[in-house]
Amino acid sequence: MADVDYNALPDNDFRRDVRTFFESRYPEEMRFLPRRVRMSEIRGWWNTLYEKGWIAPNWPRESGGMGLDAGKMVIFLEEMERHGVARPADQGITQVGPILMKYGTQEQKDFYLPRTRSGEIIWCQGYSEPNAGSDLANLQTSAVIDGEHFVINGAKIWTSLAQDSTHIYLLVRTDREAKKQKGISFVLVDLETPGITIRPIRNIAGHEEFCEVFFDNVRVPRDRLVGKLNEGWTIAKALLGFERLNIGSPRRPQYALTRLELLARSKGLFDDAGFVDRFTEIKLDLEALASLYARYVAQVKRGEPLGHDVSQLKVWAMETWQRLSELLVETGAEDGVVEGVTDIDGVEIDFLAPFYYSRPGTIYGGSSEIQRNILSKYVLELPS
Ligand SMILES: Cc1cc2nc3c(=O)[nH]c(=O)nc-3n(C[C@H](O)[C@H](O)[C@H](O)COP(=O)(O)OP(=O)(O)OC[C@H]3O[C@@H](n4cnc5c(N)ncnc54)[C@H](O)[C@@H]3O)c2cc1C
Repeated sequence: MADVDYNALPDNDFRRDVRTFFESRYPEEMRFLPRRVRMSEIRGWWNTLYEKGWIAPNWPRESGGMGLDAGKMVIFLEEMERHGVARPADQGITQVGPILMKYGTQEQKDFYLPRTRSGEIIWCQGYSEPNAGSDLANLQTSAVIDGEHFVINGAKIWTSLAQDSTHIYLLVRTDREAKKQKGISFVLVDLETPGITIRPIRNIAGHEEFCEVFFDNVRVPRDRLVGKLNEGWTIAKALLGFERLNIGSPRRPQYALTRLELLARSKGLFDDAGFVDRFTEIKLDLEALASLYARYVAQVKRGEPLGHDVSQLKVWAMETWQRLSELLVETGAEDGVVEGVTDIDGVEIDFLAPFYYSRPGTIYGGSSEIQRNILSKYVLELPS
């Protein structure tokens, strides 16, 4: 158990300690990576956090976490973003751990929690399927009970970093007769189980950040079911919150803006009224994002739950980031379409990386269209 009560520290002291630790220990060459980091690159940093007792800031202290309250958690995440600390395949920490603590059996907690923290077990999320993304409840991967096992058949897609993971947490259909959400269960599966095939998908930037995962008569012991049979949907939905807040952080676009500003200066573009107009517009959009983000951070710090209106944060953050990355490519002119880092009068810029990295931002975590549907239905109460 962690022996420090971080919540008792004044915010500024806690922020200083986190910042100092990140600045002194996080590998410089991995700051602000414009892609998902692979486990082979970040294992050392995982171990550093683990040894410090900081790998699971959101877990309670009795489970080996830092036990941070909402306010301190926001500070921790803000400092990660500020220093450009990459997010490893941390679904076990952010999702599986809290789910097991709430719904898992004692055996599941005893087995999975310590191994998830140490990084012996790395989790990936098997929710989406070829015909079940936005409409997730349409998922068809089935788990049929056969004695003491589930027999799983089907395919998952867009599974982030499955090839770096040892385990997958799955939503599977366990009752075909029940209405959509009703017949779904939440199951933990070891990726070494016979019958599983993982096929990485290469994205337009040339990175293999997600995979297809196929299940062909995969036999999984029934005690890997989390919660009750056919009640997996409730479990999957139980975890919304920081993810939604963190995804709207202005840090990533702010970093791209500093590159754009440096580039524009070196090219003398601030004498061009047309450019200044566009630059100012995007800068103001980013200011708006920062204040919107600050508003939700304050809400979380007050201990208030986030409502449906937080969807606007994700839409604004991701779309602003995309517009900014487009302006960066355009401003780079002929250099803007060259892969890799280019030196423009002493300014090192990778034009295409933020452009590619920001593209899926309007898809994952609920697409922009779906967020707008939510705003329309629940916030504006428009007829659907
Ligand atoms: C980088 C990345 C990582 C991901 N990682 C994972 C992961 O680890 N695990 C996992 O399970 N999934 C993951 N996903 C999948 C992600 O959750 C889905 O891509 C997302 O839910 C959208 O589903 P889809 O791709 O099937 O698109 P679809 O749902 O088919 O949508 C296609 C288009 O139609 C629009 N659309 C759909 N329904 C509506 C509607 N009702 N109204 C208006 N417009 C609509 C969408 O906005 C989109 O533009 C990842 C995706 C990305 C891009």
